[in-house]
Order: sequence, then C-alpha cells, then structure tokens
Amino acid sequence: MLDCAIIGGGPAGLTAGLYTTRGGLKNVIMFEMGMPGGQITQSSEIENYPGFYEHGKTGMDFMDTWQEQCFAFGLKHEMKKVDRVTKNGEHFTIILEDGKSVDARTVIVGTGSTPKRTGIKGESELWGRGVSTCATCDGFFYKNKEVAVLGGGDTALEEAHYLSNICSKVYLIHRRDEFRASPSTVDRVKRTENIELVTNTIIEEIEGDTMGVTGVKLKNLKTKDISTLEVPGVFIFAGHNVNNSVLKDKNGNFICKMNDWGQVIVDLNMNTSIEGLFAVGDMRIEAPKQVVSAAGDGAISALQVISYIQELS
Ligand code: FAD
Ligand code: NAP
Repeated sequence: MLDCAIIGGGPAGLTAGLYTTRGGLKNVIMFEMGMPGGQITQSSEIENYPGFYEHGKTGMDFMDTWQEQCFAFGLKHEMKKVDRVTKNGEHFTIILEDGKSVDARTVIVGTGSTPKRTGIKGESELWGRGVSTCATCDGFFYKNKEVAVLGGGDTALEEAHYLSNICSKVYLIHRRDEFRASPSTVDRVKRTENIELVTNTIIEEIEGDTMGVTGVKLKNLKTKDISTLEVPGVFIFAGHNVNNSVLKDKNGNFICKMNDWGQVIVDLNMNTSIEGLFAVGDMRIEAPKQVVSAAGDGAISALQVISYIQELS
C-alpha cells in the first residue's frame, strides 16, 4: 500500500513528490506517462518563475533540475499511463493502462489541461516560436509590438485585454461576428482603444521563418478577401481539454465534483469532494495556469496528505 500516489509529473506533481518525500512519507510513486516535466517543457523560454532568470534557457532545461531534486529525496517515477482511480473503503486503487493496479492511502492528481490546437497551417511548426497559448507567459516578449489573438470565448477576450496593456496593438481575430464571451467582457474589449476586432475572419496560415512567426494570412469569410497581417506573435485561445479522464469511473461518471468545464472543484487545501483525494495545477477550478501556481498547489496538497496520513495512523 502506497502512502501517496501522484498522477502526473508536471510542476504540480513533481512538487507534491518533493514535499511528500521530504516530509517523511516513504512509499510515494509518481505515475507520469512520459518524461517528467509537464507541458512547460514545450516552451522555448521561461522568464516568469521567480529565482530563475537565465536568458535562453528552455522549459526543458528548467524542468531537468526539478526531477533531479525530487528523485534525490526518494520520489519514485513509474512511466505508466493511469487509466482511472477508484475509492474502495478507506483506500484508493490506481488502475494502470496495462490493467495492473496499485493501492494507495491518498492520491494527488495533477494531470493538467491541454490547449486545443486549431490545425491552422504553420501552427505546429511555429508552436512555442511565436505561436502561444498563454498571454501571462509570453505577452512580455511582445512589449510595444503588435500581436494577433485568435478566438471569441472568455479566455481569448480576457487575454486580449491583458495583452493590450503590454502590446502596442492587439488584433482579435474571430470566425464569427458574435462572441461566446460574457457581454461585459465583450464590452470591455470593445472599449479598449488598441484592440481591433477582426470578425468573420479566419487565419488561413501562420507564416514564419527560422526566427519564428512573421505574420498571419487572413481570410474574410463574407467577402472572401485575403490579407496579411505582419505580427511576430499569435495567441491561440480555442479552448482547453482538461485531462480529467483518470477521475471517471467505468461508466464514464466523475468520482468527485467537477464544474461545467470539467475542472476539478477543490477547496483552498486542494481537497476534492472525496477524502484523501487531491487535485492540483492546471486541472483544478480557477487555476492561473502557471508553473509557479501549479508548484504551490503541489506543496499545499502534499502538506495535507502528510497530516491526513498522520490522522489515519
Ligand atoms: P502539466 O504541466 O500539464 O503536467 C501534467 C502531466 O500529467 C503531464 O506531464 C502529462 O504527461 C501527465 N499525465 C496526463 N495524464 C496522465 C495519465 N493519465 N497518466 C499519467 N500521466 C498523465 N507557465 C509559466 O508559468 N510560465 C511560462 O513561461 C509558461 N510558458 C508556457 C509555454 C507553453 C508552450 C505551454 C504549453 C505552457 C506554458 N506555461 C507557462 C504553462 C505551464 O506549463 C502550466 O501552467 C504548468 O505546466 C501546469 O502544470 P501541471 O503540473 O498542472 O500540469
Ligand atoms: P471556448 O468558450 O470554447 O471558446 C473558444 C473560442 O475559440 C470560440 O470562440 C471558438 O469559435 C474559437 N475556436 C475554436 N476552434 C477554432 C478554430 N479551429 N478556428 C478558429 N476559432 C476557433 O473556450 P474558452 O474561451 O477557453 O472558455 C472555456 C470555458 O471557460 C467557457 O465556458 C468560458 O465561459 C469559461 N471561462 C470563463 C471565464 C470567466 O468567467 N472569467 C474565463 C475564461 C474561461 P466559435 O465561438 O465560433 O465556436
């Protein structure tokens, strides 16, 4: 029986591993289906993690030391995909993709969320080199420059507004002339001088060279006009898939309470609606979707796990 099973080896899961093992728990396994590090390893540069300010270091370089530190304190990594978690009386069973299972007294889930890709030509090739899904992370790289934002939901409009404080101009490109975002957010964006709404328009191609994005080729769906916008950055906000499948039972029902968007409902201690089950990082409600906050969640959940196990004993 494990003291704690951690599912997901991104910043949240790794930090939970560091705090549980340094806090004296002996049997902790982190199930991470790939190499530990999480989605930040896709980033070409990180400059908003306090204490880490080395120009030119990639997300991969940044996360390398995290796993090294965690393993030094006894965290074990099993490179396995978790299929689902069930609660059986006082303990949990973690069912792996290969059909094997492991029992644990507590579980911390930090499987993240994945930004949806649009499939636009050039999106994959220039991903992390001018194509971004995070204004808080990358907006500063475009200080006083013009950028394009794609999407018409709350995220796109809120992030466009955030970027308007940093960038000289924001082109908000949306395929319809009605927005999904709440009316107050649409109104605020419309009142922002340096945001230009480009509606009924799609991005046909994201253009770039070896240095990164150089512009976007636009098509107006009503007039069929084609034009090019020269911008060094494109922010895509086409929605997120929350990686929550491990929290579904055999019938596809969630084992703990979720909100309408599939994010796990937690309290300030990362407790889910099930005792002993914690959810951390980008998959939880109101996640700021930042490395620093995911790490904070991991630490909080680990401290809760330690006291929970002490109480059980
Ligand atoms: P994730 O990092 O998504 O990790 C989840 C892990 O769970 C993954 O490794 C995944 O393989 C694993 N997993 C999922 N399902 C299973 C399963 N069933 N079984 C086993 N393992 C599973 N944030 C910043 O603060 N600053 C930045 O500059 C920044 N730049 C970014 C640039 C890019 C290109 C991207 C994509 C994100 C960026 N972010 C940045 C956001 C940051 O990466 C996330 O907020 C952070 O990684 C979330 O951590 P997490 O641990 O919650 O989830
Ligand atoms: P979303 O509501 O699904 O919006 C995604 C947007 O991207 C839509 O406008 C969609 O266009 C567009 N899009 C998707 N695929 C595209 C493609 N291939 N090409 C061009 N455009 C594409 O996602 P979200 O904005 O991330 O929001 C997710 C949920 O979180 C929503 O329920 C939202 O209300 C909520 N949320 C709330 C807040 C808040 O309350 N403050 C903040 C953020 C998010 P169409 O509209 O034409 O489909």
